[in-house]
Amino acid sequence: MLEIHNPATGEPIAEVPQATPEIVAERARAARRAQPAWFAIGLDARLQVLQRFRAALAAELEPLAATLTQEVGKPIRQSRNEISGLLGRIDFFLAQAAATLAPQQVFDEGGTREVIGLDPLGVVANISAWNYPYFVGGNVFVPALLAGNAVLYKPSEFATLTGLHIARLLHQAGVPPDVFSPLVGGGAVGAALLAQDVDGVFFTGSHATGVKIAQAVGPRFIKLQLELGGKDPTYVCEDADVQAAAESLADGAMYNAGQSCCSVERIYVHERIHDAFVAAFVDTVRGFKLGDPTREDTYIGAITRAPQLDVLEAQVADAEAKGATLRLGGARLAKPGNWFEPTVFTEVDHTMALMREESFGPIIGIQKVGGDAEALMLMNDTRYGLTAGVYTRDEARAKAILARVNAGSVYWNCCDRVSPRLPWSGHGDSGVGLTLSTYGIQTFTRPRAWHLRQPG
Ligand code: NAD
Repeated sequence: MLEIHNPATGEPIAEVPQATPEIVAERARAARRAQPAWFAIGLDARLQVLQRFRAALAAELEPLAATLTQEVGKPIRQSRNEISGLLGRIDFFLAQAAATLAPQQVFDEGGTREVIGLDPLGVVANISAWNYPYFVGGNVFVPALLAGNAVLYKPSEFATLTGLHIARLLHQAGVPPDVFSPLVGGGAVGAALLAQDVDGVFFTGSHATGVKIAQAVGPRFIKLQLELGGKDPTYVCEDADVQAAAESLADGAMYNAGQSCCSVERIYVHERIHDAFVAAFVDTVRGFKLGDPTREDTYIGAITRAPQLDVLEAQVADAEAKGATLRLGGARLAKPGNWFEPTVFTEVDHTMALMREESFGPIIGIQKVGGDAEALMLMNDTRYGLTAGVYTRDEARAKAILARVNAGSVYWNCCDRVSPRLPWSGHGDSGVGLTLSTYGIQTFTRPRAWHLRQPG
């Protein structure tokens, strides 16, 4: 049995049976058998099924948001935002699937035609994270199902109830149970899934687990996508609107208690506005209400995984030992559940774990810089490369910097933003592969090259 706890109170919520290795193997065989019929019903039928899934999500938004808040500690308004956000992503996939998946004729001469066909991969494994289970799961299973694949879905052990709701709603909408199988459990269930006969592995999670998955899957030459963590930097130039930048970046750093892959994790501020920016930033963060995530006015909820509190404490101790100035917070809260104060450091540098390792919590370092060259050098001084941003009134200046940053997504005067219309991908230790945009539909297919010659 998998025990599920409420991270905001520490209290048990539910016990759910875990998938045994035998169940995982049986579900994988069933998926293999069921996938051809799912593809054969055609795209129009699959679009209708996913449209019904979207309608069911919208109809159950309130109870689904309440479950998400209960099992991951996310403030209720942010849980609602996530489910609403998935509705928008589904709309994008539904609107783009037909054109994106259609065969494309690329040559027609002398009785010979050449056509690119897009076949489904077959059976894909979707191993998911807990921090945005609707987003990171939906980025995979929605386009994968539309393209005609069967999906073996392992929700995070910290978002199991949400994962089971997703499966229930997909089945009610008309996805056959063998075409979408939820597999409940932790890393051992994920590892058992990797051992099955699958045609693709789509993973969202930490760099450490991503390395293990790459090692397990590598020799089999199957499609592998790894959407991993980040240490996302932003640079605030001296001509930026200081108040607006501070408010935007405080939100980017603290939303979902900083537990976002694209949270702002490092801020570099031009020396001419550094002090004003820090004052406005700390002021904004002070205004964020921390507490019971079921309350409408809560902005910072619980830390989902208890071990992360140790990581945050260690980063605080390391930063203090190396001379950083603590401007706000800095400690866990002495109450049941997993709680950490929003924490702001200045006078930080790159010897500190706070500026090098993913924090994944409500903690941020702000570093003073002398100009664009220094900011760019520091932004690129990382193994990660998910997102990066620049705040300035000068678009040309922002673009000149952002074009040279190692990151899959770049932001001018915004941050912590994901669009279904744009590809989502990382550089370096942030992973390989991509989701979202039309590329994120095609990625669940393999091209077939058709050479068609009319008989004389
Ligand atoms: P995690 O790596 O601990 O777990 C992710 C999933 O992998 C879980 O379902 C887990 O059960 C499973 N797993 C664990 N060990 C496994 C193994 N040996 N084999 C197969 N599966 C295994 O990550 P997490 O704590 O769930 O998620 C947080 C991380 O995810 C952060 O680093 C965050 O930045 C990253 N993330 C990235 C994106 C992105 O789009 N790039 C989005 C969300 C989260």
